Amino acid sequence: MTISGKTRILGIIGWPVEHSLSPLMQNAALEEMGLDYVYVPFPVREEGLGAAIGGMRALGVAGFNVTIPHKTAVIPCLDRLAPEAALIGAVNTVKREGDDLVGYNTDGVGFLNSLRDDLGFDPAGARILLLGAGGAGRAALASLCRAGAAQVLIANRNAERGEGLAEEFRSFFSGTQIAAFGLGSPSVTDEIQKVDLLVNTTSVGMGDTVFEGLDLSLLKPDASVYDMVYAPWETPLLKEARRQGVRCANGIGMLVAQGECSLEIWTGKVPPSGVMKSRIWAALGR
Ligand code: NAP
Repeated sequence: MTISGKTRILGIIGWPVEHSLSPLMQNAALEEMGLDYVYVPFPVREEGLGAAIGGMRALGVAGFNVTIPHKTAVIPCLDRLAPEAALIGAVNTVKREGDDLVGYNTDGVGFLNSLRDDLGFDPAGARILLLGAGGAGRAALASLCRAGAAQVLIANRNAERGEGLAEEFRSFFSGTQIAAFGLGSPSVTDEIQKVDLLVNTTSVGMGDTVFEGLDLSLLKPDASVYDMVYAPWETPLLKEARRQGVRCANGIGMLVAQGECSLEIWTGKVPPSGVMKSRIWAALGR
């Protein structure tokens, strides 16, 4: 990669950011596509967000990803939001359009693409149990509703937050039955037996943390389990799903797919299939 006076800058802001796999996969794709861009990590603390976005404007950065803890906080710093980002209430991709910084969210479409590619799962007409109601949960819910899910049941630790999300999205998606309850409620045990897909959108599983009282032996034999967490590679939830013999996948495919969508937003070009994935798999020694 040769950096010249014409090279355009892409990047990622977050805190911490040094463990991000995005620079590896984005630079691999940019190089393969022969595009004169470079993608760099920007460690930005919460209190530095406003100044960092001002810096992005002043430096003419072409676009950047946004990760924890800035996905919601960045919104007031931007000029406009794409409809999906406005609905989800979180931004993971920003593109410079003229003088404006425009916020997008590619987590939802990345999730759907990974469901299709990694599990062969089509949400149309399906019943889904969604664990979590944070930013990733909102992105998953929006994309599942758009993809025609018949029913999405939200189970969140903070039941009120889940119920608020269900109520909010019911008004947008009348074709999907949306309900919510607490993560520990008996409804989880009732519903887990009927669903086609169980999705973890919480951070449970990182550091080998586990869900208490979630009995995967109750799942239908043809059900699938998707865990957005990918570190560790096999979370306790996925280990148990594999033990029960149901199809399952971790969130690495979503990471790759959301990154491919971001790159397409910035450059207008579709990254060649498999480049980001193979770079990440190599980095993780898979
Ligand atoms: P967030 O907005 O902070 O939401 C966190 C969610 O996790 C909330 O629903 C929270 O419940 C729940 N939670 C946290 N600790 C919990 C615990 N001990 N027990 C039960 N529930 C717990 O975070 P986010 O942005 O949605 O991200 C959530 C996870 O998704 C992270 O692990 C992130 O890395 C992952 N993710 C992966 C990808 C990918 O590409 N694979 C993309 C986006 C996010 P309360 O509402 O009760 O607090």
